[in-house]
Formats: sequence, structure tokens, C-alpha cells
Amino acid sequence: MLLKKLKYPINLIILLVLISLSVGPTYAESIQISGDQLLVRSGPGTEFEPIGHVNQGETHPVVEHDGDWIAIEFAGQTGWINSQFVTTLKDQPASPEMTDQSDQQDYFHIPFEHVNVRAQPTTDSDLIGELPFNEKIELGDTYEDWIEVTWNDLTGFIPLWIVEANPFEQTVDQSIFKGKTIVIDPGHGGVDVGAISITDHYESHYALYTAEVLRDQLSQLGADVVMTREDDYYYALMPRATLANYVHADVFISLHYNSEPQYPTATGINSYYRNESEQLLAEYVHNQLIEYTGANDRGVEYGNYLVLRGLSRPGILLELGFISNQEEEKQIQSHAYQRKITQGIIEGLQQYFLTSKQK
Ligand SMILES: [Zn+2]
Repeated sequence: MLLKKLKYPINLIILLVLISLSVGPTYAESIQISGDQLLVRSGPGTEFEPIGHVNQGETHPVVEHDGDWIAIEFAGQTGWINSQFVTTLKDQPASPEMTDQSDQQDYFHIPFEHVNVRAQPTTDSDLIGELPFNEKIELGDTYEDWIEVTWNDLTGFIPLWIVEANPFEQTVDQSIFKGKTIVIDPGHGGVDVGAISITDHYESHYALYTAEVLRDQLSQLGADVVMTREDDYYYALMPRATLANYVHADVFISLHYNSEPQYPTATGINSYYRNESEQLLAEYVHNQLIEYTGANDRGVEYGNYLVLRGLSRPGILLELGFISNQEEEKQIQSHAYQRKITQGIIEGLQQYFLTSKQK
């Protein structure tokens, strides 16, 4: 906890700009991008970190000016670009979507590399597509933790939090994650479904869902995320460790859910490490998981799991809750709870990275 750093100025400024925009955006001016693959930065200068790019021919509403820099509405936030690579469209009629304020708020740019679209607003419904980074989508109605989206001919559902603000704005130091290679291993997959829940859902599906949420959040923090499997297919255990060794993972995290059908009251989270050197990593992540989820603390233990045996990189295995317990499974199905899980993992990783940096 002592190691947490708060980052205020830039985030706060962006937040204030967003708040002022949400009151009622009126864009008097817009610009057209004349350079290709133009970097968009978090502030007005090359010293600010890139947050994405815009392409030749795109038009964007202007939020404000600062010297040679222009703030534009970008991917649901404010981004800065150098004015020498743009053409101002001040005196031209605004496009229809920009004149209609209600329409303006119903569009959104995808802030991550991959966002899965599902047929129904549930974690176990079919995947019907994937939204690329920065794609402009139309937002529809919300259904609890989900929101309906339309992109080209595709209409489906994505988790609601994706269109909300970054939950780590004030607790996670993004520079810690920049350049870190994190291998996420969703347990089981394909014919190996893992445990089967009390409502006949598969551990392999839940593990993949948690992995996707974790991947998107870590990517947003600047980490290089590698998934051992991206979909519901079988992948043997040893190659998962080999993959982590090959990419020189800073951390390997295997995600699982537990089941004890003969003890339906069993609940809680267990965390495992295989080498003594990984005990601290397991403890940091485990303690934050318990803090964020409020789950029953089943402790940190040595575990000689096959998937950890082939690792030459730091790795842990997490059993994130009991799908044999009706109440716990219900929580695991909720996106709000998934966010608590992934936030706990991320805060734990941050502590681990900060500590290993000091050594
Ligand atoms: Zn498992």
C-alpha cells in the first residue's frame, strides 16, 4: 500500500475536459488529418506519451489549442496532435453527426486492441466478432454490465466497463507496466473444460473471460500481453510454459476456477507458486485479490502444478473462486466482480514490479 503512487495532473486535466464536454459538446471547429499514422499524445508536446494514432483523411472535432498543438476528441478521450499535420475545416459545414449532439454521444472509439463482441449480454454466449483498436462504434442500450454495440453489419454486446473511464487512473502507475511482458494463461480449453459448475458452465470459459478482461486492462496500462490461448480450444500444458520462457515473460499467470461438488459451501481464492522465489509474487497478488474481491481467503501455498513445472520465468497459478458454490458462481458471472478480480491482480503485480525494481 505504501508503494502506491498517485498520478494526478494529466489524468485530472483529461477528466476535467471530459466532464466539461459531457455537459454539452459544441465543436465550432474540426480538423482533417493530412499526415498518415499521426501519433496522438496525452498532452501538448512530444514529451507526452503516445496514446494512439490517427490516419490521413480522418476528421476530428477540436477541443482546444495550445501553441502548435491541437486537442481532439479521440477514442472517447482527449488526445493531442501536432497542428502542422492537419488541415483546419473551420468554415466548412460540419458533418451531420457533429451537428446532432445526441448522436455525438452515442459514438465511441474502441480503446483496446481486441474487444470481443458476444451475441447476448452474458459471458457464455457465442463470440460473434472482434472490434479492432480505435474503431468507431455505435452504442446502444445497456443491460446490467453489458452494452449493445453496432459496428458495420455487426450488432452484439460488449462489457460496459470498456466504454467507461479507466478504473486504474488513480491507483496504478502506468510506467510500471510499460514494456513488461505478461503471459496470461486461461486454464484448460476445448475438450478440456476443467471443472463444471453447479449450473453446468465450464471452468475453461470462465478462465478465458477473466483472461480477456485482464488482457485488455494490462494492454491499456502499456504491458505487452501474450495469451496462451485466445479462444476456446485445447492447448497442452507444457507448451504454455514454453511460450512464457520463449517470450521472456516478466510474469506468467495461470487462471483457474475451483470446484468441490461434494462440498457446495466451499468458497474463496487460493494462490500457488512453485519456487520459493515466486512466493512474494504470489503473496502480493493474492493479498490484493482478497482486498478487492472480499473473497474468502484460502491462502498462498506451494503447488507443484504441471503448467508451472516447465517455467523458467516467474509464474503463479490462481484459483479464483468456486463455481461449485451457487452464490460464488453468480458473482463470478458478473462483470463487476471480474473487474475486482483483475484489479486485484494488477495492483498485486504493481507491488511486485516495484519491489523487484528496488533490488
Ligand atoms: Zn483448472
